[in-house]
Amino acid sequence: MTKSKGYAAQSAETNLAPWDFERREVGAHDVLIDILYCGVCHSDLHQIKNDWFPGIFPMVPGHEIVGRIAAVGAHVTNFKIGDLAGVGCMVDSCGHCEDCKGDLEQFCSEGVQTYNAMGKDGTPTQGGYSNNIVVKEEFALHVSDKLPLAAVAPLLCAGITTYSPLRYWKVGPGHKVAVLGLGGLGHMAVKFAVAFGADVTVLSTSPAKEEDAKVLGAHHFVVTKDPDQVAAVTKTFDFIVDTVSGPHDINLYLNMLKSRGTHIALGAPSEPYQIPAFSLLAGGKAVAGSGIGGLAETQEMLDFCAEHNIVSDIEIIGIEDIHDAYERMEKGDVRYRFVIDLATL
Ligand code: NAP
Ligand code: ZN
Repeated sequence: MTKSKGYAAQSAETNLAPWDFERREVGAHDVLIDILYCGVCHSDLHQIKNDWFPGIFPMVPGHEIVGRIAAVGAHVTNFKIGDLAGVGCMVDSCGHCEDCKGDLEQFCSEGVQTYNAMGKDGTPTQGGYSNNIVVKEEFALHVSDKLPLAAVAPLLCAGITTYSPLRYWKVGPGHKVAVLGLGGLGHMAVKFAVAFGADVTVLSTSPAKEEDAKVLGAHHFVVTKDPDQVAAVTKTFDFIVDTVSGPHDINLYLNMLKSRGTHIALGAPSEPYQIPAFSLLAGGKAVAGSGIGGLAETQEMLDFCAEHNIVSDIEIIGIEDIHDAYERMEKGDVRYRFVIDLATL
């Protein structure tokens, strides 16, 4: 077995605390990664709090993992010891269904999440708030050594989750795109939508983020608590990229879509959306969703970021500061992703 240490929640009611555990032996097709940095996603908070479903405890969260290959199995061909590598939200899938064959492993019904899931060996998976991880080589991504590594970590979830829908809906020049919620996902959505040539508006509950939004490249900023500012953007957007983590009334935003516009749900609040039929019928609007991205697209996104010098705006924290980070995240006070330096473990 592989000895690991991390920070785990022992239950949905307890804080994270140091925990020693074991991962599987490095198999013939596995790599062992010494983790250097791990981003803090709002999904970590949802899951340790059982927001979505009863979690598997003890739970080591973390699915924005970057580090260095420390060992490779006998049949590994794509990595060698010393290479940089990243792991995102998934660590396994069936490999032969329509989704897996179509580079949509994230939708495979036998897919395995990086943590809070049962692995194919019958033991729970554990995430990146830890010193190492053993993973099938196909689920490890290549990471450029030209970018600051800590700021690359959030690309493994926040990056691909926003890149993928913008590519799927072919967002580019001539499109007016609104990014709803300026947090970890939101700030990456702004960077990508700007890089793809769209006209970008940030829709935020936080007036204090206006300056940051402009620095990130957004062209306009709307405070969603101000009825006049909201009225001024009625029927304005082709797409709204919704990254909101908490309960919100999406009818307010559907009014901001042009006819035939699309509201893309990325955020995962625990409460269902309430949408009267007429919010969609009038204007022929669509509400769609998107979940992370497949392996090939994740590599494409990482390569795109290396080429265009795109990384996340981060605040590096020690693992002991994780609860302060969660508290600030709950208040919407993230600028714009916390990243744990695992050397502090
Ligand atoms: P985050 O950094 O906490 O950002 C969320 C932002 O949403 C906040 O900063 C705030 O921005 C806004 N917000 C929060 N609560 C709100 C409310 N009740 N009403 C209106 N706005 C609110 O979170 P994140 O890590 O970006 O994750 C966002 C959501 O996406 C989470 O639910 C997460 O689980 C989900 N997620 C989904 C996928 C996927 O595959 N689809 C992947 C990763 C994460 P302002 O201050 O600008 O208003
Ligand atoms: Zn995430």
